[in-house]
Amino acid sequence: MVLETLGTKIVKALQSLTNQVVVDETALEAALKEVARALLEADVNVKQVSELRQRVKNRVRLAELPPGTNRRRLIHKTVFEELCRMLDPGIPPYRPQRGQSNVIMFVGLQGNGKTTSCVKVAYFYKRKGYRTGLVCADTFRAGAFDQLRQNATRARVPFYGRYGETDAVKVASEGVERFRREGFEVILVDTSGRHKQEAALFAEMEQLDRALTPDHVIFVMDGSIGQAAYDQARAFQQRVRVGSVILTKMDGHARGGGALSAVAATHSPIVFLGTGEHLDDLEEFQVQSFVGRLLGMGDVRGLVSTIAEADLENPDEEQMNRISQGILTLRDMQMQYSNVLRLGPLSKVASMMPGMAEILPKGSEKDAQTRVRNMLVILDSMNREELDESTSVRWDDSRKRRIARGSGRSVQEVDEVLTQYKLISKAWSRIGKNMKHLMQPGHGG
Ligand code: GDP
Repeated sequence: MVLETLGTKIVKALQSLTNQVVVDETALEAALKEVARALLEADVNVKQVSELRQRVKNRVRLAELPPGTNRRRLIHKTVFEELCRMLDPGIPPYRPQRGQSNVIMFVGLQGNGKTTSCVKVAYFYKRKGYRTGLVCADTFRAGAFDQLRQNATRARVPFYGRYGETDAVKVASEGVERFRREGFEVILVDTSGRHKQEAALFAEMEQLDRALTPDHVIFVMDGSIGQAAYDQARAFQQRVRVGSVILTKMDGHARGGGALSAVAATHSPIVFLGTGEHLDDLEEFQVQSFVGRLLGMGDVRGLVSTIAEADLENPDEEQMNRISQGILTLRDMQMQYSNVLRLGPLSKVASMMPGMAEILPKGSEKDAQTRVRNMLVILDSMNREELDESTSVRWDDSRKRRIARGSGRSVQEVDEVLTQYKLISKAWSRIGKNMKHLMQPGHGG
């Protein structure tokens, strides 16, 4: 996804500190310079970059640190927190109220992914159990209604629109009224876009805003437009009460830093990132998870909340404590794999789970699923001791043969499971350590 390079570069800049014998002002300065360069190359706004650099320097006062402080970690943590701060306008995300009609209006320029996002969000709320409907008020673009209709049908979300109607306010009001009457909880209105910011677009948006008095307005912007993002986000924000933002096309290779920082600079919270053309290519945006993932720390929080939402097997407290310290057994891996299969596309889940992306079988989604299933069969043939005391068990040939026989798989495949376990648990132990020092309240902050 977009920004991967940025993440790699920042991580590299911070890792350079590890190679230093002493972490002094010069080393800090050099590392921060690299971090700043990486951010600028990803199109993050110059002013924000220099502020971030200054803030980190002000907070990490090397000369005043008590002896024995882990300076590298402190710097790491401060950069993490300052990146979060940069992207977090401090406004809690909008949540529709259950049991009443919530009208959400989508605005944005044509081609930015408004209609696509509208349907994705409808699908998202539908899966959360809200009665959701879609209204097509895009009377400007020929084919807009057909596009919404097709996608809504695919998502199995009821929709409203009228062929040939040119009065956007009229269609929108009718659609909203009808869904309200029928007790729909989330009513999403897709409005017209234009190729550029022009008076007619804003005038129509304002008319719709007055007529519908939506509970929330979402501004949809192409995440790959770089520095131009700031002006665009501001223009929309000044004309309608933009409540939150969706950045689309974050799956491409363009640099997404411009859009991210523009949104932050206009104090609009990002709610979702669009990561593809399909219905479920939508990610809830959570600053800490996002920055964590950017810095290669895995999205432990995201993963935990996805698991909670999907009502899957949850680790008990003891297990959770152990996992968060980075200690993993084969039983944990078994649970993770069976959850992973229930969570949806493996590639998406893998990006949240440290170590997972490296070991997931390449190839089609179907092949990947089959391999994970085979691994689960092997794990199911293991006994309690093997699953829970995985590191102290002697993994000799006779043990592996027994497991292979029990599962109907080959010894080689049993070996593969064990190799993967080693890789994952190594990744987790690294993450465990990182998370521990990042999540410690008050540490260095
Ligand atoms: P609208 O004019 O703003 O309503 O834009 P559309 O929703 O019609 O999207 C324009 C194009 O961008 C379409 O080809 C979409 O499939 C594509 N698109 C939208 N969102 C994403 C995304 O998150 N990733 C990618 N790769 N393509 C997207």
